[in-house]
Amino acid sequence: MRSLEKPRAIIVGGSLGGLLSATTLRAAGWQVEVFETSPNELESRGGGVVLQPDVLDALQFGGVALPNPPGVTSGERIYLDREDNFVERLYMPQMQTSWSLLYRAMKNALPVAIVHAGETFVEFRMEGEQIVAQFESGRSEQADLLIGADGIRSTLRRRLLPEVVPAYAGYVAWRGLVEEADLPLHAADVLRDRFTFQQDEGHSALAYLIPGDNDATAVGARRWNWVWYRKYSREKLDELLVDRHGVARAFSLPPGTTKSADIAQLRDDAHALLAPTFRALADATDDPFMQPIVDLRSSKMVFGRAILLGDAASVPRPHTAGSTAKAAANAHSLALALSSIWQSGATIDTALKRWEIQQLQRGKLMTDLGISLGNRVMNIAR
Ligand SMILES: Cc1cc2nc3c(=O)[nH]c(=O)nc-3n(C[C@H](O)[C@H](O)[C@H](O)COP(=O)(O)OP(=O)(O)OC[C@H]3O[C@@H](n4cnc5c(N)ncnc54)[C@H](O)[C@@H]3O)c2cc1C
Repeated sequence: MRSLEKPRAIIVGGSLGGLLSATTLRAAGWQVEVFETSPNELESRGGGVVLQPDVLDALQFGGVALPNPPGVTSGERIYLDREDNFVERLYMPQMQTSWSLLYRAMKNALPVAIVHAGETFVEFRMEGEQIVAQFESGRSEQADLLIGADGIRSTLRRRLLPEVVPAYAGYVAWRGLVEEADLPLHAADVLRDRFTFQQDEGHSALAYLIPGDNDATAVGARRWNWVWYRKYSREKLDELLVDRHGVARAFSLPPGTTKSADIAQLRDDAHALLAPTFRALADATDDPFMQPIVDLRSSKMVFGRAILLGDAASVPRPHTAGSTAKAAANAHSLALALSSIWQSGATIDTALKRWEIQQLQRGKLMTDLGISLGNRVMNIAR
């Protein structure tokens, strides 16, 4: 580390994991620069994220102001059968927010000049104790630490652990968003103020309310967020991943890309398999999108001065509602570990090693839980 100067971190990836790292490390006294491959602001149309305590803790540590309220609350969890009868009700209060709300709040908390859009990380090398990151544009950046927050297809992970690749779990998540006012009243009355599930033979659906446009949480201005987990063979998945323009997508179908025949089939299947409330959600969704469920777990997170966190390091299945919470815990604990070196006399390297031991364990617990929940919900034998 250059003495008297603040230590410096280069963060690859400007999604939630990257921005959580940037805000928490800045709060811990580090200089940070974020490099995101997408040339535009990231946009998810505000898909749902369960707001876990780890996320709130990290945002508070990073000095990130959230709108008030930062999401929509639900009180009960209910389980429906195929006729909309309540088969189970539990009191489990929680708050749901949107990906976009968290993204915007962190972007607003960071100086514009430190987030660089349209920069694709390709490679790194060491120069003494400094790490040098290279970008496709020809730019290179020197720092004390390189953080790979570049998601499930991480370039940094491919460089460090080429054998670790996502493995298809045998099912996908169809997802949709519906403006609050666009859902028929019979369905809205079942779903409102609740986190609703339908668990059936080999498929499973859930729905909840999240903030709407501009983070709106007022009644009538919110959105219904739904997910329907369905099993497909690898061959069928490859067919579905061909988008409406005939392009074979490698990873997922973002909103607006699903073929109209597949949307029609999804609605027909919803009528055959889902409760009236979930059918109404599928009918009211213009552009359902799809994400294959995959398993991924790295055996290491620290490689000298290069580290992996968030989805780049491990991906818990979405039944845990834990990807963003894990990214938050990774980032927050990293900032705490690196801020304590001044008091304790430890080095960056020893702090990173201690951080890795805890966070690998956390990733293992979350991914194990996701696999066991997912296989149970989907009736998949191991
Ligand atoms: C646009 C977008 C929308 C999302 N919407 C939702 C949602 O609605 N609900 C939900 O639960 N989860 C959503 N996610 C996923 C969620 O953000 C993650 O599962 C979780 O928060 C962990 O985030 P992450 O930052 O580790 O990974 P990711 O969110 O996957 O982010 C990785 C980032 O790294 C960038 N990147 C990749 N390679 C490079 C490279 N070589 N150089 C520079 N940058 C690179 C990617 O463009 C991406 O922005 C979304 C992700 C993205 C990118």
